[in-house]
Amino acid sequence: MQHFDVIIVGAGSMGMAAGYYTAKQGVRTLLIDSHNPPHTMGSHHGDTRIIRHAYGEGKQYVPLALRSQELWRQLEDASGVELFAQTGVLTAGPKDQPFLQEVRESAERYSLPLEVLSATEVHARWSGIKLPENFYACFEPTSGVLYSEKCVAAYRDLAISTGATLLTDTRVTSIELDGEGVIVQTADEHYRAQKVLLSAGAWNPSLLASLGLSIPLAPTRKTVAWFGADEERYSSDRFPAFIFNLGDSSYYGFPSFDQTGVKIGRHDGGQLIDPDRLERTFGTYLSDEGDVRSFLETYMPQAAGPLCAGRVCIYTMTPDEHFVIDRHPAHSQIMIAAGFSGHGFKFASGIGEAASQWLIDGASTLDLSMFSLSRFA
Ligand SMILES: Cc1cc2nc3c(=O)[nH]c(=O)nc-3n(C[C@H](O)[C@H](O)[C@H](O)COP(=O)(O)OP(=O)(O)OC[C@H]3O[C@@H](n4cnc5c(N)ncnc54)[C@H](O)[C@@H]3O)c2cc1C
Repeated sequence: MQHFDVIIVGAGSMGMAAGYYTAKQGVRTLLIDSHNPPHTMGSHHGDTRIIRHAYGEGKQYVPLALRSQELWRQLEDASGVELFAQTGVLTAGPKDQPFLQEVRESAERYSLPLEVLSATEVHARWSGIKLPENFYACFEPTSGVLYSEKCVAAYRDLAISTGATLLTDTRVTSIELDGEGVIVQTADEHYRAQKVLLSAGAWNPSLLASLGLSIPLAPTRKTVAWFGADEERYSSDRFPAFIFNLGDSSYYGFPSFDQTGVKIGRHDGGQLIDPDRLERTFGTYLSDEGDVRSFLETYMPQAAGPLCAGRVCIYTMTPDEHFVIDRHPAHSQIMIAAGFSGHGFKFASGIGEAASQWLIDGASTLDLSMFSLSRFA
């Protein structure tokens, strides 16, 4: 049996980042993934992810967002790969939306740059956006878009070059404990470590169940689609990433990068799934295209062109849409990073760093207590 200091089960968004930061500290690190990351089977594919700092989901996220942004910049420097495009992010919705109010309060509390714009001002600035008069928007110019698969690939290259071992196409089948540490079992081998990070995305529930823990995590089928758009209005050198919080639904999207079209997804809804039986064909449900097309026709009509591409991806939701980052209550050698509820990617660098600190020192510099398991008790 091979021994490591740390084993990371699931080397996707969170796991690959954590593996880089542990290996960088000289810790013997084994990363194991069922696929060959970055890949299209989990939650990190589809080219792009939004990163925002003034946070509508709660101002408590802002320190983590700012640290994550700093680490993405450092990753760009270390890898020599462009990972972030500062397009700015526009958040829009009806005037009574609590989400927009929280964006404003986050900006105020942390002195973040934020422009508050009326519907008319938005249209004057971006002629491709049509907002009703009872809407307004917040524009955060310092935020933007991460190239998600390139981020995972950059962490992978650096993790390996700093000494981590990566096993790809290797599924972890069980995790057990004995008096001496944690034993991680794959089909052919078992490995031992002092500490384990469980970061298996949509597959966390089954691994947690084998460890006697049931957390309310709901893997959910999600789709994104790219539509032909008027480049004069929507290209990435002049159009921001966007979030529309409409109260009963919410949509997010990206400007057209390299003439690939406007990419758009619906944040709420989706079908509850078993990730091993996911219907991966875009268009299986009429809503895959229908929902986002009708959003574009209403709010961005010159971006509602022909469907260029569609992808199926997975969210892993928690009931309150906040993450789970905590130790296993009965086995303190196991840390869990789960339930990223469709908004976790931007924090992967910060969470990776925090997880590495926990794995090495037993505690992280950033306060992650809002993500503790005790809230489900
Ligand atoms: C369509 C879509 C749009 C999104 N948009 C945004 C956005 O704009 N901004 C944002 O911040 N976030 C966004 N997110 C959310 C974000 O991408 C996810 O929260 C994040 O990728 C989750 O990371 P993860 O590490 O938990 O999962 P993953 O990146 O999927 O990693 C999990 C890894 O575990 C591996 N694994 C699973 N089971 C096993 C096993 N038994 N043994 C070994 N390995 C295993 C998998 O192969 C995978 O590589 C979006 C998500 C989707 C799907």
